[in-house]
Amino acid sequence: MSSARLYSTAMKHIGVLTSGGDAPGMNAAIRAVVRTAIHHQIRVSAIYRGYQGLLDGDVHEMGPRSVANIIQRGGTILRTARCKEWMKPEGRARGADILKRHGIDGLVVIGGDGSFRGASKLQEEHAIPTIGVPGTIDNDIYGTDVSIGFNTALNIALESVDRLRDTAASHDRLFLVEVMGRNSGHIALNVGVAGGAEAILIPERPVDVDAVADTLAQAERRGKTSSIVVVAEGAFPGGAIALQRSIQERAGFDVRTSILGHVQRGGSPSTRDRVLASRLGYMAVEGLLNGEQGVMVGTDKRGHVFVPLDDVWENEKPIDEPLVELANILAV
Ligand code: ADP
Repeated sequence: MSSARLYSTAMKHIGVLTSGGDAPGMNAAIRAVVRTAIHHQIRVSAIYRGYQGLLDGDVHEMGPRSVANIIQRGGTILRTARCKEWMKPEGRARGADILKRHGIDGLVVIGGDGSFRGASKLQEEHAIPTIGVPGTIDNDIYGTDVSIGFNTALNIALESVDRLRDTAASHDRLFLVEVMGRNSGHIALNVGVAGGAEAILIPERPVDVDAVADTLAQAERRGKTSSIVVVAEGAFPGGAIALQRSIQERAGFDVRTSILGHVQRGGSPSTRDRVLASRLGYMAVEGLLNGEQGVMVGTDKRGHVFVPLDDVWENEKPIDEPLVELANILAV
């Protein structure tokens, strides 16, 4: 595909790990990294359980068949972990030594913001070429339009919203549906618009409970007998249950709450996530071979982009403002 490019001859062996929260499509990315490396006749090793696994020496060389039959599987076959020791310079120094001992001279880190902070420090402190691949259902990573797992999570959450609407409509009920997203509202906003929610509450906009109760009461007066409100997990202190109490107190009507939780993170990745993960995994290896380092490979309207890891974790991804406005207009 890119035989005309000039490749760095220095890189002989790359490592790949998944870190932080798992996301559907991570396996497709691992497969792409392994097979692209093999395509270029470069050795590739999997590091199990993220930075913790690296510190434990859980490093295993992969062949093309090591990643057979994984593209359709959710989660990550490499497993993932959080690692306190990696937060300290001594931990990263030990990690760098272990990589060198295995002869690994380039690293692909598939994960989220936190994992990229760790990757960026490894790069800065030990000059080990490192490249990030965005994998998180929350889609809260600056520098890429989408991250691996977002599309699958949207599809799962939307299916639940559609089902809840059947019940809401049959029983004249108000349902609060809490979706994931940590401190970001990307999942809630998209699922809310796609599910025709009467209101969408996201952390990027302060939640005014009086206004929400008022909106729902007005909707009832206009003849709406059931409503769905999509709530991002970080939108209201105490979450959807606390919000339910506040709305009930003010509006005086019965509210049901459904917290979708971790079901949104599992399951077989969507077509879009598999293709995205295949592209980004491939580009990560191509980037490393072309001398890219200390960057994340992302995607936007230009195609693939390499963004400095420091920019990625220092910036917050903005919410899609026009979509917020659209949601307000369509919710009447
Ligand atoms: P995610 O990558 O999904 O955002 P976390 O925030 O849990 O997940 O980060 C994953 C791992 O990345 C942490 O367990 C830690 O080992 C490493 N990490 C996170 N933040 C830092 C940091 N500031 N410095 C060094 N390593 C970090």
